[in-house]
Amino acid sequence: MSDYDYDLFVIGAGSGGVRAARMSAGLGAKTAVAEDWNLGGTCVNVGCVPKKLFVYASHFAEEFHDAGGFGWTVEGARLNWKTLLENKNTEIGRLNGVYEKLLQNAGVELIRARAVVVDAHTVEAGGVTYTAERILVAVGGWPSVPDIPGKEHAISSNEAFYLEELPKRAIVVGGGYIAVEFAGIFNGLGVETTQLYRGELFLRGFDHDVRAVLAEEMRKKGVDLRFKSNIAAIEKTDAGLVATLEDGSTLTADLIMYATGRHPNTAGLGLEDAGVDLARNGAIVVNEDFQSSVPSIYALGDVIDRVALTPVAIAEAMVFAHNTYNQEARKMDYRDIPTAVFSQPGIGTVGLTEEQARDEYGAVDVYKTSFRALKHTLSGSQEKTFYKLIVDRATDRVVGFHMIGPDAGEVTQAIGVAFKAGAKKADFDHTIGVHPTSAEEFVTMRSPEPEPQARAAE
Ligand code: NDP
Repeated sequence: MSDYDYDLFVIGAGSGGVRAARMSAGLGAKTAVAEDWNLGGTCVNVGCVPKKLFVYASHFAEEFHDAGGFGWTVEGARLNWKTLLENKNTEIGRLNGVYEKLLQNAGVELIRARAVVVDAHTVEAGGVTYTAERILVAVGGWPSVPDIPGKEHAISSNEAFYLEELPKRAIVVGGGYIAVEFAGIFNGLGVETTQLYRGELFLRGFDHDVRAVLAEEMRKKGVDLRFKSNIAAIEKTDAGLVATLEDGSTLTADLIMYATGRHPNTAGLGLEDAGVDLARNGAIVVNEDFQSSVPSIYALGDVIDRVALTPVAIAEAMVFAHNTYNQEARKMDYRDIPTAVFSQPGIGTVGLTEEQARDEYGAVDVYKTSFRALKHTLSGSQEKTFYKLIVDRATDRVVGFHMIGPDAGEVTQAIGVAFKAGAKKADFDHTIGVHPTSAEEFVTMRSPEPEPQARAAE
């Protein structure tokens, strides 16, 4: 034990902070964690968990409809938003309790106050000054809403989780994970939903086919999806919120939600005064050991703005704790992170997009298939499932996996393991399919797409 109050003082009890605190305490460090909000951070409170519960809720409408083709009559199905909200809040409350227990059991002291950094080894929280050999900042991020006239009438995803009433008409602005997920949620819950994205095609950074197919599928389900479209100003009127778009047209809605990115939550934390280098967007700049420009101050998770995903923050926390308190030399591997977008239908992806793979490997083989899943032969739904594999021709290694369809996250998790094991296309081909499933298509795709030049000449 050092001369400090603590070996480790963690600021922020989200996914990354809690894991780092628990692991470090388990490895013998005297640890405290400060949090002025709920436990579990964005993911548990206003992110992954309630979002997925809302996605489940919104899927029922489609399920009730599909049931008809299987002989069911579903009468009088109606959503009670308040029940959904209350049940969701109860579950989030339960998870908060679980997090508190986990910290207690690990011997971490929980300080329920906002903490600010005073200097390299000092933190102030709730009027008390604490010293620590190391400080770990894991304060996450916060939604960014652009500065347009009337922005005060818009909400972010934070508020969308606590709406008193479900709107009749909603506009979702943005084309990232959160925007497509919420457009699907609102649409599924029966809200007249418009999604606006400023660029040519949403989900920038995802494989082009995936972006195009999802747009088509979302439109089929009823989302009014508009590209090259953005709000210039919002006005509150008796008829509702009137959004004036950049082209001068107007749209009226009861709710306007911005999902236009998130920024690191570093404002007012005392970091710059303590000498911690921040990037232009406020992210804490760290080296591969998560150490900032002040050697005793570390940071991980969304606040370092590398990959804003809960399992990544948790993996970073494990690297930090093991290296710092168990003298290991682990390195965080950011390649081939499997991820899912809980859009409707869902997206799953691991590895490179076709565009990236062509840049990195030159010669690649691309396998694609698009089909109507067995279920929809009776349900009557026109939803398409889309699968794509990208293979480095020189080594036969599968370097890109992309899908749109039911259970995308579940399938992608398993494929992620194959990626880590360096699976080749031949391994996929030698794997026996699970029949009848949609995912068996991944082991039966035999004919690569024609080369782009050949396609262009067609
Ligand atoms: P993203 O950064 O993914 O997307 C932001 C979107 O808003 C982009 O389409 C961007 O457009 C657009 N945008 C940015 N600024 C403006 C503006 N001024 N006016 C209009 N549009 C604008 O952010 P999200 O908020 O969707 O999500 C944040 C992160 O959270 C994600 O990157 C992801 O890591 C994580 N997340 C993960 C989930 C999951 O795993 N399922 C679910 C939800 C979030 P452009 O492309 O043109 O820049």
